[in-house]
Amino acid sequence: MSKTVALHTLGCKLNFSETSTLSRLLEQDGFIKTDFEEIADVYVINTCSVTDNADKECRLLVRRIQKKAPEAMVVITGCYAQLKPEEIASIPGVDLVLGAAEKFNITHHLKEITKGDSAKICSCDIEDINTFTASYSINDRTRTFLKVQDGCDYTCSFCTIPMARGKSRSDSISKVIANVKELSANGIKEVVLTGINLGDFGKGLTGGKIKEENFFELLQELDTTEGIDRYRISSIEPNLLTNEIIEFVSNSKRIMPHFHIPLQSGSNKILGLMRRRYKRELYTEKVGLIKTVMPHCAIGVDVIVGFPGETEEDFKETFDFLHGLDISYLHVFTYSERPNTYALELKPVVPIHVRNERNKLLRNLSYQKMQYFTQQHIGETRKVLFESHSKNNTIEGYTDNYIKITASYKEEWVNNVVEWKI
Ligand code: SF4
Repeated sequence: MSKTVALHTLGCKLNFSETSTLSRLLEQDGFIKTDFEEIADVYVINTCSVTDNADKECRLLVRRIQKKAPEAMVVITGCYAQLKPEEIASIPGVDLVLGAAEKFNITHHLKEITKGDSAKICSCDIEDINTFTASYSINDRTRTFLKVQDGCDYTCSFCTIPMARGKSRSDSISKVIANVKELSANGIKEVVLTGINLGDFGKGLTGGKIKEENFFELLQELDTTEGIDRYRISSIEPNLLTNEIIEFVSNSKRIMPHFHIPLQSGSNKILGLMRRRYKRELYTEKVGLIKTVMPHCAIGVDVIVGFPGETEEDFKETFDFLHGLDISYLHVFTYSERPNTYALELKPVVPIHVRNERNKLLRNLSYQKMQYFTQQHIGETRKVLFESHSKNNTIEGYTDNYIKITASYKEEWVNNVVEWKI
């Protein structure tokens, strides 16, 4: 009889797309996928290192599994598994810990272990990883997250991602196009290009290619490939968002007028301490150019509050900077200490309650920005891609410039682009 497998993801969109690929690999190997809440023969938890309580969350999930299915095999993978394999292996009930390089060999490793033995760790030094495995999520979604790049060569002082995911490396353009055609054949209409440092696409290509490719070339190629109606760029560092990319997107029919650009701080002093590779002036310039060539473009911003050394004045600088920028919404993160990062050495530490207050202020600002951006487009007719799920007889979708639309359910709209008066 076929064995069942249940998977659970913690963390980012990249992790979600990788879990989908793990699921497909297991299903190809004969497993039947089941819900994580159900009884299964194998449980896979794809962990995250950004989550504050990665350790706690992981332990909790394993304990729940042990209660309901004590005989089940438990596999832990993902960023946290790469960073702290021993710690995870010591959690009672864990059978297999797969690091970044071994994640996609899951079917092979599962055959090598027996329940009841001590947990097996399959992991190598993160510096030795130079392979790239493409991933995408399909399920019942209209939109899919396609991983085209992994790892990061930057050294931002607060970040552990390079330690968990390794050097920057990418798929080749030809393989991305092949994946896109597969997705299109599966009915997918929108592809979100995903990576850890997406703008770095093409660097460290695997497969022994001499000529490196770049992100701009990838966009050009995707734009002329039939099949997918819409592409979104999940996130791009301001210093890698070239003017030619901005101009190109403004003339493209397939690449949506929507950028998500991490800022992290509006204070040059804090940006320096964070070891970011730009100053606020560059950010202003990029937003200015985007809005000049695409006034309707949505711009999302990542920002971190409470970084060590961030005084009231520095925070005010960030707040005022964002207040004055023509952006659409913010993703606000509260700084939290990560082991083995340079930021840990920086002083003075910002008290938690101050970090939380700053977070709240920026979340309010984000709400206002979103309201203002939406109001600017009221009365316009824009293209909305309605998604495949419905809730309480309503259907949801996004405009090209990422305004969320909720409408009464109509079957013919599902997974289709509809001209919509906002
Ligand atoms: S760019 Fe900076 S924050 Fe982003 S993954 Fe790389 S090191 Fe981390």
